[in-house]
Formats: sequence, structure tokens, C-alpha cells
Amino acid sequence: MPTPTNPSEIAREAFRLLASRRLPPSPENYRALYHEIAGTPAGAAAPFPERELKALLSALPKEKPAQERLLKRFEQAFKGKTWDELKRGLGEFFAQLGKEQDLPWSELFGDFLRQWESKQAGLTVARKREAVERVLAGAAGNSELLFTRLQGLVRSWSLNAPMAEEIPLVEDDKAVTATAAPSAKPSTADLAAAAKAQQTSAQAAELSAELSEIFAYTLEVLVPSQLHDEPELVADAKALAHKIRTATSRAAMDGLQASIKRFAFRLEILAEDRVELRAGLLNLLQLLIENVGELVVEDRWLAGQIEIVRDIVAGPLSIRSIGDAENRLKEVIFKQGQLKHSLNEARESLKQMLAGFVDHLAEFADSTSDYHDKIEICADRISNAEDISELEDVLAEVIRETQIIQLNAQRSRDELRNAKQSVEDAEKRIGELQAELDKASTLVRHDQLTGVLNRRGLEEAFEKETARAQRRQSTLCVALLDIDNFKKLNDSLGHDAGDAALIHLTTVIRETMRPQDTVARFGGEEFIILLPDTPLEDAQTALVRLQRELTRRIFLHNNNRQLITFSAGLTDLRAGDTQASVSKRADEAMFAAKQAGKNRVLLG
Ligand code: GH3
Ligand code: MG
Ligand code: MG
Repeated sequence: MPTPTNPSEIAREAFRLLASRRLPPSPENYRALYHEIAGTPAGAAAPFPERELKALLSALPKEKPAQERLLKRFEQAFKGKTWDELKRGLGEFFAQLGKEQDLPWSELFGDFLRQWESKQAGLTVARKREAVERVLAGAAGNSELLFTRLQGLVRSWSLNAPMAEEIPLVEDDKAVTATAAPSAKPSTADLAAAAKAQQTSAQAAELSAELSEIFAYTLEVLVPSQLHDEPELVADAKALAHKIRTATSRAAMDGLQASIKRFAFRLEILAEDRVELRAGLLNLLQLLIENVGELVVEDRWLAGQIEIVRDIVAGPLSIRSIGDAENRLKEVIFKQGQLKHSLNEARESLKQMLAGFVDHLAEFADSTSDYHDKIEICADRISNAEDISELEDVLAEVIRETQIIQLNAQRSRDELRNAKQSVEDAEKRIGELQAELDKASTLVRHDQLTGVLNRRGLEEAFEKETARAQRRQSTLCVALLDIDNFKKLNDSLGHDAGDAALIHLTTVIRETMRPQDTVARFGGEEFIILLPDTPLEDAQTALVRLQRELTRRIFLHNNNRQLITFSAGLTDLRAGDTQASVSKRADEAMFAAKQAGKNRVLLG
């Protein structure tokens, strides 16, 4: 008979064989016959019950973190979906379970009771209870943590090292040695001293444990509450808190010291930044408020200033952006102040001139109509005159009236001349003001053509960046760029094209360098870039990237494509450097780059 392959045929055949071989119809006999007929190994495993196991898992409790952790491990155990792996996995699971639950609690409780009852001098029951309650509250729901802390507390109670009268906050090695090797024949006084020392030592140890806990709490809860926008520092604070809690020995604490110092240093820098930020903001607001009163003439001037503050508040705040806004605001206020002054003056003189002219016209009209009236009367008297003596009187009057009108005309001419003079004076004054404004524009911190910092702005930026670099012990790089063959570009395409090329270059620089880098126009076609927090080789890479970007974004003027290249000298701030000495070094390196064939960056 052919071997059946269909499972139901195999099952039927198995039943037939069970009967014919007179075997008891047990599940084992049936399974053995089934495999014999199907030709599968007799011991083949039953299908892996993944679904059932998952159902089992989902029914297990998982409210507590510890339960959840155990469940995860259990899940891992049947991930491979074979019995063998499940067997191994479950083995590990139980081993782990054992470990978690097998903390030597009974031993710890033994120690705890001994120390609780041992009545150390200086440690009252109330104080002990207080310490235990604190440990219980701090480790609620986490048995491992509770174990470690309780162990630490018991150990601190058990410490007994003679100490000096003043209680040091940490245990003293010398003191430990002294207790470990007591004198051979202790006198009563020695014993009393030892008891006293034990008391102070126990107090110090407990205090030290408490301080550690307070410190950990500060790092875990209080410090993060002040660092909303510093997730990295928050994570570090929490990690440190964890390390402090788990460091049970003096050596482990010593190892932590360096990390704590580093962390404190970073906090210090952050605090300094915040102070600077706040001072910058206050400064800005003060400037604005001081000037609101001055700006009643034209409210669009106020709008200009408010626009700047709005811009800065909208963007991400940094010390640099606030400093930049302050400079821009100062410039706007300064220019507006100058303009307002000259405008008011011009307006005033025009008003006066106009008023004078109107008065004069009225007077002139009055006097001429008077004159006409009088002349008319005279003419009447002449025509009606009967003798020459009468005419003499009339003539005298005509002469007098004519003289008056002549005088009036002359006065009018003088007044007109004066008005013209005052207009000329006002014009001259406006011209002078303009010149003053030009002269005073050295106060302005930005270059009018390119909008980057001018030399004055650079000086201030340099001061700020050097102070910051020294405070943080970070590197500050300084690059001096000089456009290659710029004269030729000016000569061939014209001065306007030269100006446009300078604007193009600064645009590319600003868009290619990082926001924290400072760009300033040092001279005609020379620029300085300050790169804070940047090692020399990174600064060099950044400048090479700028060169590439200039090649990619070719300068276009009236359909003329013009490749702009620059030669640069790059250096870093060194001890004892001034702005002049760094610039000089960068300039020498730039000159060397020109000599070496231009379009390159050399270190100085
Ligand atoms: P090199 O490669 O050696 O630096 O040669 P160069 O021609 O760039 O250098 P040079 O110092 O001989 O010429 C610089 C020119 O830059 C001279 C001046 O006319 C021009 N220049 C300086 N400031 C401005 C400006 O604001 N606008 C324009 N259009 N040209 C300027
Ligand atoms: Mg030059
Ligand atoms: Mg040049």
C-alpha cells in the first residue's frame, strides 16, 4: 500500500495500526504511529505556541516598573520561536529574576537591626528614624535603589573613626587608621576620647550621606528646573545624580569629582551667558525708552526702531544677535537724530521767510494803494487849483508821498534781500550738518556699502570675542581676505561693478560662514572674518569652502560673468595678542598668499 501523505489519511492509518497492533489508544502511542506512517522523526517538536504564549504574556501584571522590566525579558525569551531558545531564554530570565529578588535583604536587615539597637552615642533614635524615612521616601517603588541606599545608611551608622573636635564633612583616612589600630592599653581617658571620636565620626558619616543625597537631589530636580532649553546639560545633571547615589565608596566619590567640576564649569559659563544676555536686553530696552520721547516728530522713525527690536525678539536670542541689534539701533537713532535736527532747522527758516514775505507783500500793497489814493487826491487838487501857490503845496505833497513809497520800496527790497540771505544761511547750515553727519558716521559700526561691520564695529566685536575666548579657554581664529586683481575688475567693468562685486562677496561670505562668525570690512577690498570656538584646521576648511562657494556662485554684472577669488591669511589668537598683532600676522600670511600666486589660504 502506498504511504499516505494527506494528514487525515495518516491519522486514519494510525488508528487502524493502533487497533491491529493491539496497542492501548494513548496519545503517546498515537503520536508514535503517526510519525511512523508520515516518515517524520518520532521526537519532532509540536508547533511553537507563539499565540498562546503572547496571550499568556498579555495577561501578566505590568503596572510596576519592575514588572514591566521582567515582562520585557520574558518576551525576549521566546523571540527565537523555538523550544530550545525558549528554554535557554527562560533559564536566563529566571536567573535574572533570582538576581533581582535575591538582594541579600536578610543580611541587610540583620545589620540594620544591630546598628539600630547599638545606641551609638550622638545618634538618637529620632535622628535614625528621620534618616530611614528619607531613604524610604527617596527610593519608593524601586527595590534595588532602596537596598543600595539602606545599605549606605547602615554603613554610615556603623562607621566609627576617631575624629577631631571639629567635624570634617568627609571621613578622614588618618582617622580610620587610628581606630583600626588602637593603642595596646587604653586608659579611661583614651576610652572616653575614643567614644567621643566614634560619636563625631558617626555624625560626620551620616552628615556626609545626607549631603550626598541633597546634592543628588539638587542635580536631579533643582538644576534641571533652571535649564529648560539645555537638554544636554539636564541629561548630564541627571546622570551625575545617579552616579552620586550609586557611589558607595570614597574612591568612587573621588572619581566623580572631575565630572562634577566639569559640569560646574559648564554651568558657570551658562550663567555668565545668561547675565550677558540679560544685560544686553536691558540695554536695548533702555535705548528704546530713552528715545521714545525724542521721536514725537515723526512716528515712522519710532516704527523703524521698533522694527529692529521686533526682528531680534522674533529670532533665536543670542548674545551676538542682541549685540548686533544694539549697534543697529544706535545707528538708526544717531542718523535719525541728525536728520531731525537739520529738517527742523530747514523747516523753521522756510516758515520765517514765507511769513516775512507775506508781511512785506501786505505792507507793500497797503502803501501803494495809499500812495495811489493820495496821488489821485493830488491830481484832483492840481486840476482844481486856481493859483500856482496851491500847486506848490500839492507838488510838495506828491514829492513827500513819492519819497515815502520809495522808502517803502527800498525797505521791501532790503527785506527781500534779508530773506534771501536767511535762506542761503539755512542752506549752508544744512550743508554743514550734512558734513557733520558724514564725519560723525565714523560712529556708525556698519559699512554703508556692504552692510558688514566697519573697522569700528570690528574693534568692538574683536574685544567681545577675545574676552569670550579667554574666559572659555577656546580658540578664536582670525582671517584676512583680500580680493585678487580687484583693480583690474574696476578698470574693465567700472566702479559700480566693483561695488556690486564687493556686495556679492560679502553676501556669499555671510551665507557660507556660520552665524556666529563675524565679518568686517577692513579696508577697500579687504575683509576680516572672526571665527570663534574654531580650531585652526577647521577655520582653514571653512575658508576653502568659501573659495569653492565663490566659484559656484559666479558674480554677474551686465551679463559679464566674473570669477572673484581672494587670497587669505589665517591665524589664531595667542597669549598676549592684541587686535593689531593678530591682524598683522594675518596680513603677513595674506601677503605671502599673494606672493605664492594668489587664490589661496595660508596660515600665519
Ligand atoms: P591684488 O590681487 O594684489 O590684491 O591686486 P588688487 O588689484 O586687488 O589690489 P590693489 O590694492 O592694487 O587694488 C585695490 C583696488 O580696489 C583699488 C581701488 O580702486 C579698489 N577699491 C577699493 N575700495 C573700493 C570700493 O569701495 N569700490 C570699488 N569699486 N573699488 C574699490
Ligand atoms: Mg588690497
Ligand atoms: Mg586686492
